[in-house]
Amino acid sequence: MKKLQTGDQSFVKRMNKSIVFNSIKDKGPLSRTQISKITGLNKATVSTMVSELIEESFANEIESGQSSGGRRPVMLYFNNHAGYSIGIDLGVNYVLGVLTDLNGTIMEEVSRSLTSNKYTDVKNTLIFIIGSLITKAPDSPYGVIGIGIGVPGNVDHNEKILFAPNLEWKQIDLKADIQNDFHIPVKIQNEANCGAHGEHLYGAGKNSSNLIYISIGIGIGAGIIIQNNLYTGTSGISGEMGHFTIEANGRKCPCGNQGCWELYASENALLQYANKQSVLKGNENITLEELITEAKMGNQKVLQILHTLGEYIGIGLTNVINTFNPEMVIIGNRISQFSNWISNPINHVFRERLSQYHYENTDIKFSVLEKYSSTLGAASIAISDFYLSRLEKVQQPFK
Ligand SMILES: [Zn+2]
Repeated sequence: MKKLQTGDQSFVKRMNKSIVFNSIKDKGPLSRTQISKITGLNKATVSTMVSELIEESFANEIESGQSSGGRRPVMLYFNNHAGYSIGIDLGVNYVLGVLTDLNGTIMEEVSRSLTSNKYTDVKNTLIFIIGSLITKAPDSPYGVIGIGIGVPGNVDHNEKILFAPNLEWKQIDLKADIQNDFHIPVKIQNEANCGAHGEHLYGAGKNSSNLIYISIGIGIGAGIIIQNNLYTGTSGISGEMGHFTIEANGRKCPCGNQGCWELYASENALLQYANKQSVLKGNENITLEELITEAKMGNQKVLQILHTLGEYIGIGLTNVINTFNPEMVIIGNRISQFSNWISNPINHVFRERLSQYHYENTDIKFSVLEKYSSTLGAASIAISDFYLSRLEKVQQPFK
Protein backbone atom coordinates (compact mmCIF):
# COMPACT_ATOMS: atom_id res chain seq x y z
CA MET A 1 0.00 0.00 0.00
CA LYS A 2 1.20 3.47 -0.87
CA LYS A 3 2.44 5.25 2.21
CA LEU A 4 0.38 8.33 3.04
CA GLN A 5 2.22 11.60 2.52
CA THR A 6 2.24 14.15 5.35
CA GLY A 7 -0.13 16.31 3.31
CA ASP A 8 -2.57 13.43 2.93
CA GLN A 9 -2.45 12.70 6.63
CA SER A 10 -3.28 16.24 7.59
CA PHE A 11 -6.09 16.23 5.01
CA VAL A 12 -7.55 13.03 6.49
CA LYS A 13 -7.23 14.47 9.96
CA ARG A 14 -9.04 17.65 9.02
CA MET A 15 -11.76 15.65 7.35
CA ASN A 16 -12.22 13.39 10.38
CA LYS A 17 -12.32 16.36 12.66
CA SER A 18 -15.03 18.05 10.64
CA ILE A 19 -17.06 14.81 10.59
CA VAL A 20 -16.86 14.56 14.40
CA PHE A 21 -17.65 18.26 14.75
CA ASN A 22 -20.72 18.05 12.48
CA SER A 23 -22.06 15.01 14.30
CA ILE A 24 -21.86 16.78 17.67
CA LYS A 25 -23.33 19.99 16.23
CA ASP A 26 -26.19 18.37 14.32
CA LYS A 27 -26.97 15.30 16.43
CA GLY A 28 -25.57 16.06 19.90
CA PRO A 29 -25.56 15.48 22.78
CA LEU A 30 -23.67 12.28 21.98
CA SER A 31 -21.20 10.08 23.82
CA ARG A 32 -17.83 9.22 22.25
CA THR A 33 -19.11 5.68 21.62
CA GLN A 34 -22.19 7.01 19.83
CA ILE A 35 -20.05 9.31 17.66
CA SER A 36 -17.89 6.36 16.74
CA LYS A 37 -20.99 4.34 15.76
CA ILE A 38 -22.55 7.18 13.74
CA THR A 39 -19.40 8.18 11.88
CA GLY A 40 -17.71 4.81 11.47
CA LEU A 41 -14.47 6.31 12.85
CA ASN A 42 -12.58 4.25 15.43
CA LYS A 43 -12.79 5.22 19.10
CA ALA A 44 -9.17 6.41 19.35
CA THR A 45 -9.65 8.82 16.43
CA VAL A 46 -12.94 10.07 17.88
CA SER A 47 -11.27 10.66 21.27
CA THR A 48 -8.42 12.65 19.74
CA MET A 49 -10.79 14.81 17.68
CA VAL A 50 -13.12 15.35 20.63
CA SER A 51 -10.21 16.47 22.84
CA GLU A 52 -9.17 19.01 20.22
CA LEU A 53 -12.74 20.28 19.82
CA ILE A 54 -13.07 20.68 23.59
CA GLU A 55 -9.76 22.52 23.75
CA GLU A 56 -10.91 24.81 20.94
CA SER A 57 -14.18 25.51 22.84
CA PHE A 58 -16.39 24.00 20.13
CA ALA A 59 -17.60 21.18 22.37
CA ASN A 60 -18.40 20.80 26.07
CA GLU A 61 -18.63 17.56 27.96
CA ILE A 62 -21.21 16.95 30.64
CA GLU A 63 -21.68 13.82 32.69
CA SER A 64 -25.25 12.69 32.09
CA GLY A 65 -27.33 10.21 30.16
CA GLN A 66 -28.57 6.75 31.06
CA SER A 67 -26.20 4.07 32.10
CA SER A 68 -26.78 0.36 32.43
CA GLY A 69 -24.75 0.42 35.64
CA GLY A 70 -21.31 1.71 36.55
CA ARG A 71 -20.16 5.13 35.37
CA ARG A 72 -22.64 7.43 33.73
CA PRO A 73 -21.58 8.23 30.14
CA VAL A 74 -20.05 11.60 29.38
CA MET A 75 -22.07 13.44 26.76
CA LEU A 76 -20.68 15.96 24.28
CA TYR A 77 -22.56 19.13 23.49
CA PHE A 78 -21.94 21.65 20.72
CA ASN A 79 -20.92 24.99 22.24
CA ASN A 80 -23.16 27.36 20.28
CA HIS A 81 -21.81 30.26 22.34
CA ALA A 82 -18.17 29.77 21.28
CA GLY A 83 -18.64 32.89 19.15
CA TYR A 84 -21.28 35.12 17.60
CA SER A 85 -22.16 36.12 14.08
CA ILE A 86 -23.65 39.27 12.60
CA GLY A 87 -26.21 39.14 9.78
CA ILE A 88 -27.30 42.25 7.91
CA ASP A 89 -30.17 42.73 5.48
CA LEU A 90 -29.48 45.85 3.47
CA GLY A 91 -32.85 46.78 2.01
CA VAL A 92 -33.36 49.71 -0.33
CA ASN A 93 -34.96 51.81 2.39
CA TYR A 94 -33.86 50.08 5.61
CA VAL A 95 -31.02 48.17 7.25
CA LEU A 96 -31.80 45.32 9.64
CA GLY A 97 -28.99 43.71 11.63
CA VAL A 98 -28.97 40.76 14.02
CA LEU A 99 -26.43 39.16 16.32
CA THR A 100 -26.78 35.36 16.43
CA ASP A 101 -25.13 32.50 18.26
CA LEU A 102 -23.53 29.73 16.19
CA ASN A 103 -26.91 27.96 15.89
CA GLY A 104 -28.51 31.00 14.29
CA THR A 105 -30.51 32.01 17.37
CA ILE A 106 -31.08 35.76 17.38
CA MET A 107 -29.56 37.41 20.47
CA GLU A 108 -29.83 41.08 19.53
CA GLU A 109 -31.40 43.15 16.77
CA VAL A 110 -30.80 46.72 15.52
CA SER A 111 -32.48 48.44 12.58
CA ARG A 112 -32.55 51.86 10.95
CA SER A 113 -34.48 53.24 8.02
CA LEU A 114 -32.51 54.69 5.12
CA THR A 115 -33.37 58.12 3.84
CA SER A 116 -30.56 58.33 1.28
CA ASN A 117 -29.05 55.73 -1.03
CA LYS A 118 -25.72 57.57 -1.29
CA TYR A 119 -22.99 55.01 -0.67
CA THR A 120 -21.24 56.90 2.14
CA ASP A 121 -24.54 57.47 3.97
CA VAL A 122 -25.54 53.80 3.71
CA LYS A 123 -22.04 52.69 4.70
CA ASN A 124 -22.17 54.90 7.81
CA THR A 125 -25.53 53.39 8.79
CA LEU A 126 -24.09 49.91 8.31
CA ILE A 127 -21.05 50.79 10.43
CA PHE A 128 -23.32 52.16 13.16
CA ILE A 129 -25.49 49.01 13.21
CA ILE A 130 -22.53 46.59 13.12
CA GLY A 131 -20.73 48.60 15.83
CA SER A 132 -23.76 48.46 18.14
CA LEU A 133 -24.20 44.73 17.59
CA ILE A 134 -20.52 44.11 18.38
CA THR A 135 -20.79 45.98 21.69
CA LYS A 136 -23.87 43.89 22.58
CA ALA A 137 -22.08 40.56 21.97
CA PRO A 138 -21.52 38.56 25.18
CA ASP A 139 -17.96 37.52 26.07
CA SER A 140 -16.98 34.33 24.25
CA PRO A 141 -13.84 32.46 23.19
CA TYR A 142 -13.96 33.69 19.57
CA GLY A 143 -15.99 36.92 19.91
CA VAL A 144 -17.75 38.10 16.75
CA ILE A 145 -16.53 35.61 14.14
CA GLY A 146 -17.86 37.27 11.01
CA ILE A 147 -20.28 39.68 9.38
CA GLY A 148 -22.61 38.57 6.57
CA ILE A 149 -24.36 41.23 4.51
CA GLY A 150 -27.24 40.61 2.09
CA VAL A 151 -27.49 43.32 -0.56
CA PRO A 152 -30.19 44.08 -3.16
CA GLY A 153 -28.05 43.67 -6.27
CA ASN A 154 -25.61 41.59 -8.30
CA VAL A 155 -22.65 40.30 -6.31
CA ASP A 156 -19.82 38.54 -8.14
CA HIS A 157 -17.71 35.61 -6.90
CA ASN A 158 -15.23 38.09 -5.36
CA GLU A 159 -18.13 39.52 -3.37
CA LYS A 160 -17.98 42.86 -5.13
CA ILE A 161 -21.31 44.57 -5.75
CA LEU A 162 -21.47 44.89 -9.54
CA PHE A 163 -24.80 46.62 -9.79
CA ALA A 164 -27.56 47.45 -7.30
CA PRO A 165 -30.20 49.13 -9.51
CA ASN A 166 -32.56 50.25 -6.74
CA LEU A 167 -29.66 51.83 -4.81
CA GLU A 168 -28.10 53.12 -8.04
CA TRP A 169 -24.72 51.62 -7.10
CA LYS A 170 -22.15 50.20 -9.50
CA GLN A 171 -18.82 48.46 -8.77
CA ILE A 172 -18.84 48.90 -4.99
CA ASP A 173 -16.36 47.10 -2.74
CA LEU A 174 -18.43 47.12 0.45
CA LYS A 175 -16.60 44.02 1.71
CA ALA A 176 -13.22 45.80 1.81
CA ASP A 177 -14.69 48.95 3.37
CA ILE A 178 -16.45 47.13 6.23
CA GLN A 179 -13.52 44.76 6.79
CA ASN A 180 -11.11 47.71 7.07
CA ASP A 181 -13.31 49.26 9.69
CA PHE A 182 -13.86 46.26 11.95
CA HIS A 183 -11.04 43.83 11.10
CA ILE A 184 -13.55 40.98 11.17
CA PRO A 185 -14.14 38.74 8.09
CA VAL A 186 -17.02 40.04 5.95
CA LYS A 187 -19.15 38.04 3.49
CA ILE A 188 -21.31 39.80 0.91
CA GLN A 189 -24.11 37.99 -0.88
CA ASN A 190 -27.24 38.91 -2.80
CA GLU A 191 -30.18 39.32 -0.39
CA ALA A 192 -32.38 36.74 -2.14
CA ASN A 193 -29.53 34.21 -1.97
CA CYS A 194 -29.21 34.97 1.75
CA GLY A 195 -32.97 34.55 2.15
CA ALA A 196 -32.89 31.20 0.35
CA HIS A 197 -30.02 30.07 2.57
CA GLY A 198 -31.82 31.25 5.74
CA GLU A 199 -35.13 29.56 4.90
CA HIS A 200 -33.31 26.39 3.84
CA LEU A 201 -31.33 26.17 7.10
CA TYR A 202 -33.85 27.42 9.64
CA GLY A 203 -37.22 28.11 8.02
CA ALA A 204 -39.89 26.86 5.59
CA GLY A 205 -37.33 24.99 3.46
CA LYS A 206 -35.67 22.97 6.24
CA ASN A 207 -36.71 19.63 4.78
CA SER A 208 -36.40 20.49 1.13
CA SER A 209 -33.28 20.00 -0.98
CA ASN A 210 -34.52 21.74 -4.16
CA LEU A 211 -36.18 25.05 -3.56
CA ILE A 212 -36.56 28.51 -5.02
CA TYR A 213 -36.88 31.44 -2.66
CA ILE A 214 -38.56 34.44 -4.27
CA SER A 215 -37.83 37.67 -2.50
CA ILE A 216 -40.57 40.18 -3.29
CA GLY A 217 -39.76 43.62 -1.93
CA ILE A 218 -39.16 46.82 -3.86
CA GLY A 219 -37.91 44.55 -6.65
CA ILE A 220 -38.00 40.77 -7.14
CA GLY A 221 -34.99 38.48 -6.78
CA ALA A 222 -34.61 34.75 -6.40
CA GLY A 223 -32.30 32.42 -4.51
CA ILE A 224 -31.92 28.97 -6.00
CA ILE A 225 -31.07 25.92 -3.87
CA ILE A 226 -30.23 22.83 -5.92
CA GLN A 227 -29.38 19.59 -4.10
CA ASN A 228 -28.91 21.54 -0.86
CA ASN A 229 -26.44 23.98 -2.41
CA LEU A 230 -26.92 27.58 -3.38
CA TYR A 231 -26.69 27.93 -7.16
CA THR A 232 -25.13 31.29 -8.01
CA GLY A 233 -24.33 30.94 -11.71
CA THR A 234 -21.10 31.40 -13.68
CA SER A 235 -20.45 34.91 -12.38
CA GLY A 236 -22.39 34.75 -9.13
CA ILE A 237 -25.37 36.71 -10.42
CA SER A 238 -28.06 34.13 -11.13
CA GLY A 239 -31.63 34.56 -9.93
CA GLU A 240 -32.56 37.88 -11.58
CA MET A 241 -36.05 36.57 -12.18
CA GLY A 242 -37.59 39.96 -11.48
CA HIS A 243 -36.40 40.87 -14.95
CA PHE A 244 -37.89 38.15 -17.04
CA THR A 245 -40.59 39.41 -19.35
CA ILE A 246 -44.21 38.77 -18.56
CA GLU A 247 -45.73 41.51 -20.76
CA ALA A 248 -44.26 41.49 -24.27
CA ASN A 249 -45.11 45.14 -24.88
CA GLY A 250 -45.03 46.14 -21.24
CA ARG A 251 -43.54 49.15 -19.54
CA LYS A 252 -39.86 50.04 -19.89
CA CYS A 253 -37.71 48.82 -16.99
CA PRO A 254 -34.54 50.57 -15.72
CA CYS A 255 -32.70 47.29 -16.48
CA GLY A 256 -33.13 47.95 -20.23
CA ASN A 257 -35.80 45.30 -20.82
CA GLN A 258 -39.51 45.93 -20.93
CA GLY A 259 -42.49 44.24 -19.28
CA CYS A 260 -40.31 42.84 -16.44
CA TRP A 261 -42.05 40.73 -13.78
CA GLU A 262 -41.08 43.07 -10.95
CA LEU A 263 -42.88 45.99 -12.63
CA TYR A 264 -46.15 44.10 -12.07
CA ALA A 265 -45.68 41.92 -9.02
CA SER A 266 -43.47 43.76 -6.49
CA GLU A 267 -44.05 46.05 -3.52
CA ASN A 268 -43.44 49.01 -5.86
CA ALA A 269 -46.07 47.67 -8.28
CA LEU A 270 -48.57 47.31 -5.43
CA LEU A 271 -48.01 50.90 -4.30
CA GLN A 272 -48.44 52.09 -7.88
CA TYR A 273 -51.74 50.18 -8.24
CA ALA A 274 -52.85 51.75 -4.96
CA ASN A 275 -52.08 55.28 -6.10
CA LYS A 276 -53.61 54.76 -9.53
CA GLN A 277 -56.85 53.42 -8.06
CA SER A 278 -56.81 56.06 -5.28
CA VAL A 279 -57.60 53.34 -2.78
CA LEU A 280 -57.30 55.88 0.02
CA LYS A 281 -58.75 59.24 -0.91
CA GLY A 282 -56.37 62.14 -0.36
CA ASN A 283 -53.40 59.90 0.41
CA GLU A 284 -50.80 59.99 -2.34
CA ASN A 285 -48.00 58.31 -0.43
CA ILE A 286 -49.71 55.24 0.87
CA THR A 287 -47.55 52.72 2.76
CA LEU A 288 -47.61 48.92 2.92
CA GLU A 289 -48.70 49.11 6.55
CA GLU A 290 -51.72 51.25 5.59
CA LEU A 291 -52.62 48.78 2.87
CA ILE A 292 -52.55 45.90 5.38
CA THR A 293 -54.88 47.83 7.71
CA GLU A 294 -57.25 48.61 4.82
CA ALA A 295 -57.21 45.01 3.60
CA LYS A 296 -58.09 43.82 7.10
CA MET A 297 -61.01 46.27 7.16
CA GLY A 298 -62.24 44.86 3.83
CA ASN A 299 -61.57 47.91 1.61
CA GLN A 300 -62.80 46.54 -1.75
CA LYS A 301 -60.38 48.61 -3.84
CA VAL A 302 -57.44 47.33 -1.79
CA LEU A 303 -58.65 43.73 -2.04
CA GLN A 304 -58.96 44.16 -5.81
CA ILE A 305 -55.40 45.44 -6.27
CA LEU A 306 -54.07 42.64 -4.03
CA HIS A 307 -55.94 40.18 -6.26
CA THR A 308 -54.26 41.69 -9.35
CA LEU A 309 -50.86 41.57 -7.62
CA GLY A 310 -51.42 37.91 -6.64
CA GLU A 311 -52.28 37.01 -10.25
CA TYR A 312 -49.09 38.60 -11.54
CA ILE A 313 -47.04 36.83 -8.84
CA GLY A 314 -48.71 33.56 -9.88
CA ILE A 315 -47.95 34.11 -13.59
CA GLY A 316 -44.25 34.69 -12.87
CA LEU A 317 -44.12 31.70 -10.53
CA THR A 318 -45.59 29.50 -13.26
CA ASN A 319 -42.47 30.26 -15.33
CA VAL A 320 -40.23 29.53 -12.34
CA ILE A 321 -41.91 26.19 -11.65
CA ASN A 322 -41.83 25.15 -15.31
CA THR A 323 -38.11 25.97 -15.46
CA PHE A 324 -36.86 24.40 -12.24
CA ASN A 325 -39.41 21.77 -11.20
CA PRO A 326 -38.59 22.64 -7.58
CA GLU A 327 -39.90 20.74 -4.61
CA MET A 328 -40.89 24.02 -3.03
CA VAL A 329 -41.25 27.71 -3.80
CA ILE A 330 -40.99 30.07 -0.84
CA ILE A 331 -42.33 33.59 -1.15
CA GLY A 332 -40.43 35.92 1.14
CA ASN A 333 -39.56 39.50 1.96
CA ARG A 334 -42.12 42.21 2.67
CA ILE A 335 -44.87 41.04 0.30
CA SER A 336 -45.27 37.86 2.37
CA GLN A 337 -47.20 39.98 4.89
CA PHE A 338 -50.06 39.90 2.37
CA SER A 339 -50.20 36.10 2.22
CA ASN A 340 -53.86 36.05 3.39
CA TRP A 341 -54.96 37.99 0.33
CA ILE A 342 -52.60 36.87 -2.43
CA SER A 343 -52.66 33.08 -1.82
CA ASN A 344 -56.00 32.54 -3.57
CA PRO A 345 -55.24 34.42 -6.81
CA ILE A 346 -51.82 32.69 -6.97
CA ASN A 347 -53.47 29.31 -6.58
CA HIS A 348 -56.13 30.20 -9.13
CA VAL A 349 -53.44 31.04 -11.72
CA PHE A 350 -51.64 27.75 -10.95
CA ARG A 351 -54.82 25.73 -11.46
CA GLU A 352 -55.41 27.40 -14.81
CA ARG A 353 -51.85 27.50 -16.14
CA LEU A 354 -49.70 24.77 -14.58
CA SER A 355 -49.67 21.19 -15.79
CA GLN A 356 -51.45 18.77 -13.48
CA TYR A 357 -48.10 17.25 -12.46
CA HIS A 358 -46.52 20.54 -11.40
CA TYR A 359 -49.75 21.69 -9.76
CA GLU A 360 -49.93 18.62 -7.56
CA ASN A 361 -46.22 18.30 -6.79
CA THR A 362 -44.99 21.79 -6.02
CA ASP A 363 -45.29 23.14 -2.51
CA ILE A 364 -45.89 26.88 -2.27
CA LYS A 365 -45.03 28.42 1.07
CA PHE A 366 -44.56 31.83 2.58
CA SER A 367 -41.35 32.46 4.49
CA VAL A 368 -41.55 31.49 8.16
CA LEU A 369 -38.59 33.61 9.20
CA GLU A 370 -40.46 36.61 7.78
CA LYS A 371 -38.24 39.70 7.88
CA TYR A 372 -35.32 37.65 9.24
CA SER A 373 -34.81 35.27 6.25
CA SER A 374 -32.04 37.34 4.74
CA THR A 375 -30.31 38.39 8.00
CA LEU A 376 -30.22 34.81 9.29
CA GLY A 377 -28.96 33.54 5.94
CA ALA A 378 -26.24 36.20 5.92
CA ALA A 379 -25.23 35.38 9.51
CA SER A 380 -25.04 31.68 8.67
CA ILE A 381 -22.86 32.33 5.60
CA ALA A 382 -20.42 34.12 7.92
CA ILE A 383 -20.56 31.14 10.32
CA SER A 384 -19.80 28.60 7.54
CA ASP A 385 -16.89 30.77 6.43
CA PHE A 386 -15.54 30.83 9.99
CA TYR A 387 -15.69 27.02 10.26
CA LEU A 388 -13.97 26.71 6.88
CA SER A 389 -11.19 29.06 7.92
CA ARG A 390 -10.67 27.00 11.09
CA LEU A 391 -10.13 23.84 9.11
CA GLU A 392 -9.28 25.23 5.66
CA LYS A 393 -11.09 23.67 2.75
CA VAL A 394 -11.71 19.96 3.15
CA GLN A 395 -13.97 17.56 1.33
CA GLN A 396 -16.58 17.53 4.05
CA PRO A 397 -16.18 20.92 5.61
CA PHE A 398 -17.82 22.25 8.72
CA LYS A 399 -21.37 23.16 7.78
ZN1 LIG B 1 -36.15 44.81 -15.74
